[in-house]
Amino acid sequence: MSEETRLVIKSGNVFDSIEGKINENLTIVVENNEIVWVGDEGSFEKEETDNIIDAAGKTVLPGMVECHVHLSGTGDPQYEREYLRTKRDMYNLIALDNAQKHLVSGFTCVRDAGSYKGIVSSLKRILNKGIFAGPRLVGSETGIWQWGDSEAFGPQALIDFDREVSVIQAGVDNVKYAVRDQKKLGADFIKTATTGGVLHGMESQVSFVLWTDEELVAIREEAHRLGMHVGCHAHGNDGIQAAVRAGFNTIEHGTFIAEETAKMMVEKGTYLIPTRSAIVCLASSSIHKQMPPEVQTKITECYNKAKENHQIALEKGVKIAIGTDAATPGNFHGNTGLEIKLMVDDIGMTPVQAMQAATIEGARAIWLDDKIGSLEKGKLADIVICDKNPLEDISAIVDPLNFSHVIKDGKVMAGRGRIAYFSPLQKIKLD
Ligand SMILES: [Zn+2]
Repeated sequence: MSEETRLVIKSGNVFDSIEGKINENLTIVVENNEIVWVGDEGSFEKEETDNIIDAAGKTVLPGMVECHVHLSGTGDPQYEREYLRTKRDMYNLIALDNAQKHLVSGFTCVRDAGSYKGIVSSLKRILNKGIFAGPRLVGSETGIWQWGDSEAFGPQALIDFDREVSVIQAGVDNVKYAVRDQKKLGADFIKTATTGGVLHGMESQVSFVLWTDEELVAIREEAHRLGMHVGCHAHGNDGIQAAVRAGFNTIEHGTFIAEETAKMMVEKGTYLIPTRSAIVCLASSSIHKQMPPEVQTKITECYNKAKENHQIALEKGVKIAIGTDAATPGNFHGNTGLEIKLMVDDIGMTPVQAMQAATIEGARAIWLDDKIGSLEKGKLADIVICDKNPLEDISAIVDPLNFSHVIKDGKVMAGRGRIAYFSPLQKIKLD
């Protein structure tokens, strides 16, 4: 090894996210940004310059993966007012702040499922350069939408703004163009939607599908050809089925997923990202009463159905990854630990299943499992060290103060709820 100091995480109880068990007293050796050795605590070859973190008695997790957020939004329940009062350039800093909130809460990889043009791909480059502490970002840029899909509520200025920033396409050639355009903007994956949303107008069952199968297949073919997976917002069952039929990789929300659709997803290997936090926040009385009446009705429908349908999806064996949809009303960034806990408390996962969903399953869902999601030789060094073991008590995953070290790319980026990394000072050398 050159002048670089190795990072050694010594004698921790290491979570094997692939097998779903804890291996006690293992040591992890990191060189640069990579895990180069995992093994019995005494048997690694020490070097003088090793930077050693004593993890005895602590639980060592792979850095967690948050699969669905919107970094340019804050979660303010009065989001229309917030949009009107926010200058465009402010969103860049709002996105940085939100990304850091995910990092300190143990999420070293964050997938953005749609923000204003350019914000996430720019922030990703800043974070990759090590200018600020932040998670590994996977972004979809603006996403591709369809005419008539999501009628927006007023005020008019917001509707106009939405139209200006949304890519709305129809027809096979047009959607292929849109996929390439997203790639050109800096997208890592394609986000689209086969149904309306809870916060939009129109149909109450969120079941309306406007895309044709030909358009959906064209999106998937073009995205896959360019090395991008496809994530699809879908609440109604028809929309979920259309997305699964087309070979999309992840279903976001999946509120009205029917049993036969769950079976299709198992056969196709499609992931479900339930974003339970979004509907739980919307249904809480303080947020619910602030929504327009049409939306209140939809929230109640979705809240009642989502829990039972997601339980069925889990029982049927649908693969599930963790995502909150942070930035929806009352759903603030940095609370993804709560989504993991909701998977245990409401949906019926064991703590081990929930932690697998937050690590290796998240990595698989977004096509990054060759790099992250487990603690193995050759993977990137994204690691979280916890005082209390969340596999024994899942509520330990909710509290960032429980994490003594949040490590991304081999650098200690945060700990105890605070950022610990700042870009290095460049020293002037005088002769
Ligand atoms: Zn979303």
